[in-house]
Amino acid sequence: MTSSGQLNRHIVARFAPSPNGLLHLGHAYAAMVAHDFARERGGRFLLRIEDIDSGRSRPEFVTAILEDLRWLGLVWDGDVIFQSGRLASYAAAAERLKAMGLLYPCFCTRSDLRQVQEDGPQPEGPDGPIYPGTCRHLAPELAGQRASVEPHSWRLDVAKASAVTGPLRWMDERHGERLSRPERLGDVILVPKDMPVAYHLAVTLDDARDGISHVVRGDDLFASTDIHRLLQALLDLPTPIYFHHPLLLDENGGKLSKSRDSASLSVLRKAGDDGYRLLQGLRSGHFPVGISLSQA
Ligand code: GLU
Repeated sequence: MTSSGQLNRHIVARFAPSPNGLLHLGHAYAAMVAHDFARERGGRFLLRIEDIDSGRSRPEFVTAILEDLRWLGLVWDGDVIFQSGRLASYAAAAERLKAMGLLYPCFCTRSDLRQVQEDGPQPEGPDGPIYPGTCRHLAPELAGQRASVEPHSWRLDVAKASAVTGPLRWMDERHGERLSRPERLGDVILVPKDMPVAYHLAVTLDDARDGISHVVRGDDLFASTDIHRLLQALLDLPTPIYFHHPLLLDENGGKLSKSRDSASLSVLRKAGDDGYRLLQGLRSGHFPVGISLSQA
């Protein structure tokens, strides 16, 4: 509700954690920013569990996420959404992009890509080295034959896709208007070898399906939005407004991460800490010792 008590059905934000580890303070901050963004505008706040990676997602992490959010005092609207229940819609979108001739099978292994790196420096994108395009140049017949017998992922031909859509823009409430440059990420994988769908495709489809008006998430996903904008244009999906927020950093200025076991919320919760007070601290800019907020 707004201060005047009105529900604004047009504002919908979400928190979309991947249940492959325990949430840490950075997630508490991200969930709070998205939650408060929606509530301050009288909008709705959804919780979507991004559990497409069945190899790394665990039910116990889902349980911990729900308990952590309740402990923080963050209430979501409606049922929890699970991406694992939507696999058919991702497959259908991938088929549509294939039929448009915009995906190609990629047979490169991690070691093939490492070898390319060792043979000479490759262009770096915001998320690491850009795919060198090896399989983009395979003759379609050969690619088709190989695809029927060899494990492969499916990559988006970004140059070809951008030629279809022409120049694209999107709006970030914090950073301003942006001209998309998806080529900076290169030909990203949309269907991995060992997973039903990749993050970029699933998140773009679901933000549309869930009626998300404002995608509120961390600055670490800022560059990815250029790819999401491209997919929206290709698949006739609406473009939400974005709000990429700063990230919590550790004492070395690095991003907090699940793998580094950065102060997990469930450890604090089980130790009897007060989640609501912790969140109020983050809200008012009082971070635990050693934790700061990125500037960019
Ligand atoms: N599932 C993603 C993650 O946990 C976040 C997706 C998003 O907010 O767009 O990093």
